[in-house]
Amino acid sequence: MYLKNIEIHGFKSFANKINFQFHNGITGIVGPNGSGKSNVADAVRWVLGEQKTKQLRSSKMEDVIFAGTENRKPMGYAYVAITFDNADHKLNIDYDEVTVSRRLFRSGESEYMINGTQVRLKDVNELFYDTGIGKEGYSIIGQGQIDRILSGKPEERRELFDEAAGIVKFKRRKNDAMKK
Ligand code: ATP
Ligand code: MG
Repeated sequence: MYLKNIEIHGFKSFANKINFQFHNGITGIVGPNGSGKSNVADAVRWVLGEQKTKQLRSSKMEDVIFAGTENRKPMGYAYVAITFDNADHKLNIDYDEVTVSRRLFRSGESEYMINGTQVRLKDVNELFYDTGIGKEGYSIIGQGQIDRILSGKPEERRELFDEAAGIVKFKRRKNDAMKK
């Protein structure tokens, strides 16, 4: 499984629709300060269901929508879609290619989709449990995260090992069952 494509439209500095295509290997994104490199990582966090604005370097969720410039009007929504090659079926879904998207309007209305079908945030989270990809995963290592892992509380460190060991989904299911 690998990340094949990121489509961004109206998210942060990306007013024009843009497609980043990746191959199964290492890709670097380079550019001057302020050109939007970190915004690409934020877009991936966001589409994976990040709800904490601090993690997205914003003060409120609406701030992820393109705010306009001197000669360009603000956008009415932000849209991000990421596509994984799933030929090895590491994602537990019956498709060789999986696209997850999120759209947010200024009204606050928002929607998630998996392969074109509207889903709940919970479904997006479940798709990525134990893959290391989800917003709680370790596939996006932000600035300062290594420090937090090294100097964090044992329980927090434990969460990372649970994800790597592939037992998060069982823990969540147990918790859900206990609540009922
Ligand atoms: P550095 O090399 O300094 O880390 P970078 O390439 O990572 O830079 P980013 O932090 O991704 O840069 O991009 C910052 C830019 O994104 C700023 O110019 C900021 O104004 C712009 N930006 C952030 N949110 C929005 C928004 N909602 N609308 C328009 N522009 C935005
Ligand atoms: Mg940056």
